[in-house]
Amino acid sequence: AAKAAGKNCVRSSGAALDRVVDRRARLARDLPAAIAGGQLSVVYQPVVGVPERRVLGLEALVRWDHPELGAVPPEEFVPLAEDDGLVVPLQRWVLAEATATLAPLLAAGHDLQLGVNVSIRHLQSGCLAADVATALAGSGVPPHRLMLELTESVLMGAGERMDGDLATLRDLGCVLSLDDFGKGHSSLARLARLPVQVLKMDRAFVAHIEADPRTAALVDSVVQLGRTLGMDVVAEGVETTGQLAALRSLGCRYLQGFLLGRPVAAGQLPAMLARFDPAVLDAVEVSSHV
Ligand code: C2E
Ligand code: MG
Ligand code: MG
Ligand code: MG
Repeated sequence: AAKAAGKNCVRSSGAALDRVVDRRARLARDLPAAIAGGQLSVVYQPVVGVPERRVLGLEALVRWDHPELGAVPPEEFVPLAEDDGLVVPLQRWVLAEATATLAPLLAAGHDLQLGVNVSIRHLQSGCLAADVATALAGSGVPPHRLMLELTESVLMGAGERMDGDLATLRDLGCVLSLDDFGKGHSSLARLARLPVQVLKMDRAFVAHIEADPRTAALVDSVVQLGRTLGMDVVAEGVETTGQLAALRSLGCRYLQGFLLGRPVAAGQLPAMLARFDPAVLDAVEVSSHV
């Protein structure tokens, strides 16, 4: 019986693997058409400033609504685009779409910065800076309104060769941020020399900030590190009022997460901005001890 169960187990995990491979192949096959027209969209999540008590920024997050498979998460299809040489057209589309969304909001008087996630393949392609410049020129968005979010693996892996592209982006006047900070393998020596102005602290820190005093101590260190290096620190993944209170007490000034606002479609942005209530920043956990 044990042997049969074992065999069964092998067979079913083999079938599961087949399904994963099938889905991957299917998505890879369908991705060019999705990029070429209609199936991609961008949603926007607010970044809130604690001292400013308002929405300071929006992060652009790409979405794929597959006609038969439904929503495919970016963590699934962005790597496929990277493997198949499609990431440059994908990123060009996101840059054009997101800057075209921001332009009328700026014209309406909203003081906002737009964050766009960058792929290492785009940086390696050597056309990132030119593509960013094209999107800015096409939309009329000023460079300082655009923040390019690079992950640790992108920035730490990028050699001196790619530092040139990053310098070009900085020279254009764009803001650079280090995304998912603390998740990967950062060299503190390299961090000090990176041309980034913003650290986006990985949401794993925020998730454990209340239950684990050592994580809270780490968050404290990251906030201090940002202060030392002259970088703004954004906490990602803020979901609860307890997390918010802990981050505030540690002096973290910039917050992003479902508690502050979920990503919304472009059409919902004016309403989302109008509806944002800074009282959310004062929310405190109702403690059973009081
Ligand atoms: P990221 O850049 O770290 O983006 C933040 C992710 O956290 C988003 O997931 C967002 O929806 C999610 N998030 C925000 N607040 C919360 C929260 O309170 N709790 C939880 N559990 N999650 C929260 P999303 O949109 O699925 O994107 C995942 C990743 O895919 C992004 O991580 C980014 O690395 C990548 N990505 C998204 N859009 C693009 C894009 O246009 N280009 C590239 N190259 N990568 C992208
Ligand atoms: Mg990001
Ligand atoms: Mg992140
Ligand atoms: Mg991420």
